[in-house]
Amino acid sequence: MSTPFLQPPRLSVRAFALLTGGITTTGIIVGVIVGIGSVPWTILALRVLLTAVLMGLVVWVYARLLALSRRIRPERLPWVHAGVSVLGMSAFSIAMWIMLAGTQFADVFPMWIIVAMGGMTLAGAGWARRVGESLHCPACEYEYNHGPSPDAREASMPPLRCPECGTAWFGRLQRGRRVSSPRLVALGVALALFGAVVMNPVFYLPTLAPHLPTPILYTVLYASPRSGYLAWDELALRTLSPRSTEAMGNRVISFRRRVSHDRSPGKWFEAAAKAGAMPAAMIEQFYTEGFVASLRAPKRAKTGEAIDVSLEVRRALNADNVLGVFFAGYAVDDQPATAGRQAKTLWAHELDPGVLRPARRVLPASLRIDTPGWHRLRAVYWLSYQRSFTDELAWQPDGTPATPAGAVWFRRVELEAPVLVE
Ligand SMILES: [Zn+2]
Repeated sequence: MSTPFLQPPRLSVRAFALLTGGITTTGIIVGVIVGIGSVPWTILALRVLLTAVLMGLVVWVYARLLALSRRIRPERLPWVHAGVSVLGMSAFSIAMWIMLAGTQFADVFPMWIIVAMGGMTLAGAGWARRVGESLHCPACEYEYNHGPSPDAREASMPPLRCPECGTAWFGRLQRGRRVSSPRLVALGVALALFGAVVMNPVFYLPTLAPHLPTPILYTVLYASPRSGYLAWDELALRTLSPRSTEAMGNRVISFRRRVSHDRSPGKWFEAAAKAGAMPAAMIEQFYTEGFVASLRAPKRAKTGEAIDVSLEVRRALNADNVLGVFFAGYAVDDQPATAGRQAKTLWAHELDPGVLRPARRVLPASLRIDTPGWHRLRAVYWLSYQRSFTDELAWQPDGTPATPAGAVWFRRVELEAPVLVE
């Protein structure tokens, strides 16, 4: 039986560096592709640099571990292997974490995998642990007692095969009598379970949530907002101190900047707002940040020629209430904004870029300017967070929409972009 945990790690430093380099490069490419458009270039460059430095450090640590593994006794080698396993996994996770921070994919490579992997390595090593300096057949554990190891050059005529089972043991002898360590196995299994179960509240939190004391439920959801809607619903039933409510509200707002597809924290936020527990400024921020768009237009144009404008939407999020956009239109300077006006409500799902794109261009239109000089291009729309999709848009004679009956939050938004006409 082969016991790789009791021999030094097999990968040479060079091979480990190549592997780490390959994985890092892949991570950097993915990070750059995902980050383009949503992360500034300087930040991206900084991230690439940081990741590269980190990988250099990881290779250095591996070299140290490898050197260490040649000095220590075999029964201590499981720790080296667990170390290498954690090192490799965490290097990859941290690299992805750095590269993808602030994007939709920030949580794709979670820390629990590292803990679970380290635990599994330890358990495997504990199972196959060896103690002492004696040498043994790799297949049947028969003890080799022919003086110096045949690995050594000066060995004189040692048997090339195990007298017990006939396995060619030349160069493959195992040092140390095989003794499983129940303690090491138990520790490893406990660690693996801890990583795979306890660090994944999504498995147990929905069932456990009704029985958890409020402070613990609060802490768990604070640390891991992506923990299942039942737990959020449960939290909505509890009374939180104003400070906790505010901290949780801020947490939800920042979570929503990164993750668009999980509505449960937003539902909790709106329930807290409805109950009057959320400060007005935070409610304003929550809804305002639910729709993020900019006016795209050329910086320069020629008199009388068509100027193509559009809206670049970075985020359009429903909460428990649904988001409707009432698009009034584009305009030049102080003219009424009517170009490209929409007769129907645009819903969040028609505007949101989704998880794979940083932004989505919508509502293209053409404007025309006949006088040279600096002008302002404008886009005007209303945002409505409302209870249902049935409240449809209705433009009034004065050019503004009627406030939907089911609206909990309704605001006019105006975007501007300067253009130089020659
Ligand atoms: Zn044998």
